[in-house]
Amino acid sequence: MADDVFCMIINGEIPSTKVYEDDAVLAILDISQATRGHTLVMPKAHYSNILHCPPELVHRVYDVAQKIGQAAIVSMGATGVNILTNAGESAGQTVPHFHVHVLPRYDHENNGFEITMKDNKPDTLALPAIAEELRKNLKF
Ligand code: 5GP
Repeated sequence: MADDVFCMIINGEIPSTKVYEDDAVLAILDISQATRGHTLVMPKAHYSNILHCPPELVHRVYDVAQKIGQAAIVSMGATGVNILTNAGESAGQTVPHFHVHVLPRYDHENNGFEITMKDNKPDTLALPAIAEELRKNLKF
């Protein structure tokens, strides 16, 4: 077992506010609450990020994330939800234990979370070459 903060939470070494738990998955409130109800869903087993986690376990984690998102709509008055994971420091990951953020969104409330994807105005003729580059090592 690694010694990141989520492993410590899973081991009961530091406290957390639990939303859901089963044999393989734990969901806790994020200490920062970027939006009200901001939840982190993670496998109990240690994988540094989604790219290293077995697909069956990724599915278990996302099943729980979906249900928590649905619950936020029904019982917290959320009008939308962002469900996302950061993989790697360059993608903003700060805790190296795979986790999915569930961020309930509320009309007219931006709180502490914003996603902006800039349109870099790529040369559309370059798109097929970019897709080809990705496909080169796409394995199923
Ligand atoms: P990341 O940037 O790795 O995608 O997200 C890590 C998240 O973990 C952050 O949103 C941060 O607020 C949260 N976090 C860090 N330490 C703790 C902690 O000790 N307890 C809880 N509940 N959340 C934490």
